[in-house]
Amino acid sequence: AIEARNVEFSFGTTPALRGASIAVDSGEILAVMGPSGSGKSTLLHCLAGILVPDSGEILFDGARIDSMTEAERSGLRRDRFGFVFQFGQLVPELTAVENVALPLLFSGVRRTEALRKAHGWFDRLGMDGMQQRRSGELSGGQAQRVAIARGLVAEPQVLFADEPTGALDSLTGEQVMDLLVAAAREQGTTVVLVTHEPRVAAYADREVIVRDGRVNAPDRIAS
Ligand code: ATP
Ligand code: MG
Repeated sequence: AIEARNVEFSFGTTPALRGASIAVDSGEILAVMGPSGSGKSTLLHCLAGILVPDSGEILFDGARIDSMTEAERSGLRRDRFGFVFQFGQLVPELTAVENVALPLLFSGVRRTEALRKAHGWFDRLGMDGMQQRRSGELSGGQAQRVAIARGLVAEPQVLFADEPTGALDSLTGEQVMDLLVAAAREQGTTVVLVTHEPRVAAYADREVIVRDGRVNAPDRIAS
């Protein structure tokens, strides 16, 4: 469904990706592991059309994202992709339910319908009754569950999750992953999950390692 071919990307003179290639199947949950600074977030941003590679190709359902206009790429991000980041990044001025509804509102769904749909997520978040709270009134795990609902509410084809459990203790992280994986599987969502936690990567169908800006299969145990 989404693929990077020989992607190179530098921040000024700092190379972040040096020929990264990865193909993620439709409906697959892929864990991207690797050391800090190896290029995981940069790869995710290139796949999601947030950054444009210096060279190489990004393909989404066969279409070249890297040669699209900014307007086309932002349309893709709005209508086909969902995002979850490490620190939830809920809008603090909005209530929890308004945060979940945001992607629907951006896609042109009417406000009453968007809020109704968003409201329905809170039962499965284990947060029924907390719809009107603001992010400052939620625990880290609750805020992150709200962020996952926001990432999936518009039923994106691909969910990009960058360290979605990175700010959480391991039990809370597992609750967040249980939710993310169950909801993504139900919707058939492709997931690109960046994590440095093996327990989180264990939720994925497949795992790759980014090292020095390139993607490798996990090391085999030497025999
Ligand atoms: P982490 O696990 O710490 O999140 P990462 O694998 O996600 O690391 P990236 O954020 O992709 O790593 O960074 C890859 C390289 O690009 C690093 O050398 C980093 O210092 C550099 N880099 C990342 N973002 C920027 C930026 N905005 N400006 C300059 N250099 C950057
Ligand atoms: Mg990163």
